[in-house]
Amino acid sequence: MALFLDSTLLEILACPACHSSVSVDREAQELVCNSAQCSRAYPIRDNIPIMLIDQARDTRLRPNPA
Ligand SMILES: [Zn+2]
Repeated sequence: MALFLDSTLLEILACPACHSSVSVDREAQELVCNSAQCSRAYPIRDNIPIMLIDQARDTRLRPNPA
């Protein structure tokens, strides 16, 4: 899996909802917002992050297994 996403790109990208920085979840193929209040996850399709609020998954809705 050769994601082009690297630290340089991650410095450019910001969550469109809250403008926080984002982290790559390579297993889930998502970019996850670093804001605990936001916590949206954006899909990565064909190595292209889909930074659209209406494409985002709200990870806060996921039941916490802990
Ligand atoms: Zn956010």
